[in-house]
Amino acid sequence: MIRHECDKCGARLGASDIGRFVVKWEIYAAASPVELEPDSVADPARELGHVIEALEKADPDEVEDRTYRAFRFDVCDECRRKLLAKPLG
Ligand SMILES: [Zn+2]
Repeated sequence: MIRHECDKCGARLGASDIGRFVVKWEIYAAASPVELEPDSVADPARELGHVIEALEKADPDEVEDRTYRAFRFDVCDECRRKLLAKPLG
C-alpha cells in the first residue's frame, strides 16, 4: 500500500486521493529566441566554439539548474490553500 504525506508540513495523507493535491513547479531560463542576422556574428564557428568550451568547463548540475528544473510535490488541503494564497511563501 502506498502511503503519502504532505511534502510541505508532513501531515499523513489518506490512502485515497481525496485531500491529496499535486503541485508541479518548473523553473527555467527566460530566453527569447535568438535572431541572428548574417553579419551579427563575425565568426559563427568561433562563437559556437566559445559556447561549447564554456559548457565543457561548467558544472553539469549548475548548467541544469540555470536552464531547467521540474519538481513535483504532494500536499494536503491546508497547504494547498496556503500555496494558493501566497505561492512564493
Ligand atoms: Zn500540508
